[in-house]
Parts: sequence; C-alpha cells; structure tokens
Amino acid sequence: MPPLDLAGKRAIVTGASSGIGRATAAALAAAGVHVAGGARRVERLETQVALELDVTDAASCERFVAEAVERLEGLDILVNNAGLALGRAPFDESSEEDEAPVFAVNVAGLVRMTRLCLPHFGDWGHVVSMGSVAGRQAYEGGATYVASKFAERGFMYALREDFLGRPIRITSVDPGLVETDFSRVRFKGDEEKAAAVYRGVDAMQPEDIADCILFALTRPWHVNVDEIVVKARNQSSGGRILRDG
Ligand code: NAP
Repeated sequence: MPPLDLAGKRAIVTGASSGIGRATAAALAAAGVHVAGGARRVERLETQVALELDVTDAASCERFVAEAVERLEGLDILVNNAGLALGRAPFDESSEEDEAPVFAVNVAGLVRMTRLCLPHFGDWGHVVSMGSVAGRQAYEGGATYVASKFAERGFMYALREDFLGRPIRITSVDPGLVETDFSRVRFKGDEEKAAAVYRGVDAMQPEDIADCILFALTRPWHVNVDEIVVKARNQSSGGRILRDG
C-alpha cells in the first residue's frame, strides 16, 4: 500500500524550539502538514503557528491548545516531544530541584497535553510521544529520567487500550543517543560534559527521529505502529556505547 498522504493534516508539536521537535515540525511541514509548535522559547519556533507553551502549567496548555486548534482549524496529530533530563548522578545524590521538573514535563505535561488535544480529533487522529531507550532499560545515573520514560510507555500502552475501536492511532518512538541540546540541559550548561556524550559515537541526528515519526504517521490507516526503538549503530543499550567504533 502507498504511504498515507499527510498533506492538509494539522499537527501540534510540543518542544518545537530545538532538537527532535524542531526537526519533526520541519519534516511535517515539508509533507504538507499545517504545524503549530509550542515551547517556552517562543522566539526560536519556526512553525506556521508559533505559540508560547509551558507544558508544566495547566493554564498555558489550555491557552495553547485553544489557540492552536483555532488557527489550524482543527487537529489531526499530536507530537508529545517536550522533555528533559537533569543530572547524571547516582540516585542518592538526587535532589527535589532535579526530580520535579523531569516528572512535571515528561509525565504530567505529556498526559495533560494528550487530554487537552484528544477532544479535537475528528475521524483521523494520531498521538505520537517521545519515549526513550531509558523507558525500556535502566542505566546508571538516570533513575528519574528512566522512571519518567517508563511512565510514558505505560501511558501509551494504556491509551491503546482505552481508544481501541476509535479512529485514533497511538505511537511511542523510543530513541537512543540523539545529538541535540538534551545533554546541554541535562548537565546545566556544562559544554564539556555535554560534548563528551556524543564524542566518537556517530550519534543519531534529530532528522533521523523525525524520519521515524513520519514513517509511523504515513502508514496505511489500518496500521498502528505501536513502538519504534531506534539507536545509533554504535549503541547497544542505554548505558553501552562504543566510542570511535
Ligand atoms: P532538546 O534539544 O533539549 O529539546 C527539548 C525541547 O523540549 C525543547 O524544545 C524545549 O523547549 C522543550 N521543553 C522543555 N521543557 C518544556 C516545557 N516545560 N514546556 C514546553 N516545552 C518544553 O532535546 P531533544 O533531544 O530534542 O528532546 C526531545 C525529546 O526527545 C525529549 O522528550 C527527550 O526526552 C527525548 N529523547 C531525547 C534523546 C536524546 O538523546 N537527545 C533520546 C531519547 C529521547 P523550551 O526550552 O524552549 O521550552
């Protein structure tokens, strides 16, 4: 069967100001999708509709979804991409300051945005969420992030149960190492530590993940791609990465 034509569909992409979200928004636009992007750094958004969004703030999410849906004149696709990790230390060195934002964005924000967007789908809906290999297998020094991404995967499984029989597809995309600002955020601006994460790996690029998302979205309508797990050739698991291999 030919890939599904996305031209004219309408999408919300959270965290479209950087990395995977920005690449996904661009790939969707290139496929003829009308895209509303949201992020706190609204000045970095390059989407057709560009609106401020803080997924940890219920009022911000409500405002964003209402205005995005009005300007797009409907909604067909939600890409729950906004996310972060903070710190890379063993859990006994964790802090409230590092834990709270990770759960607020990666779990509560994702659940909230999904709840707010679902009522706007018509007879064609697709929710894509960014999971991670961290949501499938733990690695050391990542307890909070690992827990948040396991939660994302559980939530997506539960949605598949709740929406069985309705015209809504549900996909989790679970990447390994992707070269973005993710490590810059995780190491709180420490450029040396962030650069070391990607050194000698030939890491995946944001466009590689956008390709995966587009693959799921363009399958024939009777097909639901539940999960895509994708890693750099030089990465076998969350914690095992071959450098200069
Ligand atoms: P990134 O370049 O740091 O982008 C993160 C995006 O999330 C930014 O656009 C940021 O926008 C947005 N964001 C963060 N907090 C937000 C909030 N409170 N409200 C709205 N937007 C918020 O990192 P990335 O690698 O592209 O990460 C995107 C997703 O992929 C995340 O869910 C991450 O967990 C997942 N992932 C990444 C990797 C990797 O290796 N990079 C691997 C697996 C999964 P503002 O700061 O402008 O708000």
